[in-house]
Amino acid sequence: SMATPTLLMRVVASAYSIAEKAATIVRNVMAAGDLGIVEKSGANDLQTKADRLVQMSICASLARKFPNVTIIGEEELPPEEVNEELIEDGHCEEILKKACPAQYTGIKEEELVIWVDPLDGTKEYTEGLLDHVTVLIGIAYGGKAIAGVINQPYYNYEAGADAVLGRTIWGVLGIGAFGFQLTEAPAGKHIIVTTRSHSSTLVNDCISALNPDSIIRVGGAGNKIIQLIEGKASAYVFASPGCKKWDTCAPEAILHAVGGKITDIHGNSFQYNKEVKHMNSAGVLATLRNYDYYASRIPNTVKQSLVP
Ligand code: AMP
Ligand code: MG
Ligand code: MG
Repeated sequence: SMATPTLLMRVVASAYSIAEKAATIVRNVMAAGDLGIVEKSGANDLQTKADRLVQMSICASLARKFPNVTIIGEEELPPEEVNEELIEDGHCEEILKKACPAQYTGIKEEELVIWVDPLDGTKEYTEGLLDHVTVLIGIAYGGKAIAGVINQPYYNYEAGADAVLGRTIWGVLGIGAFGFQLTEAPAGKHIIVTTRSHSSTLVNDCISALNPDSIIRVGGAGNKIIQLIEGKASAYVFASPGCKKWDTCAPEAILHAVGGKITDIHGNSFQYNKEVKHMNSAGVLATLRNYDYYASRIPNTVKQSLVP
């Protein structure tokens, strides 16, 4: 008979279904037409009704099943009773059938930290660039991102009425990543993917130093990692503070599960223990392949401007 699934695999299997519920909420809020936009630090840092409802849904659903896990979500909300309709209780059976890597079989709830970005790419969501949006659930152990779920609620939304809308990508270090077709970027080309709504002189100077053949400007950290693993871009470069741990945790786990690499602009790996500061102050550099090419060409002037 099959062994009882480990805690890690049960968390990932639940996160998968919880992210699918989140995607439904994201689509329903948009369809209803009242986004309830609130500015957080400014006009480029927004929160919508979808960010709020999804934060409640994900955090309450995870906490109910895994009460001793630390859950850190992006949105600060007043404490209130969560509507039962927001709770997702299901899980993905396919994930429970996979063997847990030996080094993770003994993990206890108290040792896990889950980083939640209920809606990544909010600015683009409010502007109708719907396929930039993702829901991110990243799972960390020992300070490292070891598993993650990325849901893209509007995947295929421009592919016609017959296309299935939305998808869920998941991965665990030592198992791999699923829900997409791993594709290499065109050989010999330097295609840089970067921010669309949080650019600066430093962001652009850094990219110029990398001899780009082309630059893709799109919203969302989750979306940009998808560009890497599907071969649309060769490097994600963001020489700026602004991106947080909930933006990078799930993308990092999935990228690392398929052999890619993500660090800050200096080459430091990110830490995801619960005490860590939320801001990735020294930016982001990520690739599926050829990390060293890009890392070795980041100008020293850029590095000196970004203190970790
Ligand atoms: P972007 O590539 O601009 O979509 O940014 C990726 C993630 O980092 C998103 O969740 C953004 O909201 C966040 N982010 C990046 N820069 C900033 C900023 N200057 N202020 C607030 N959030 C930011
Ligand atoms: Mg985000
Ligand atoms: Mg967000």
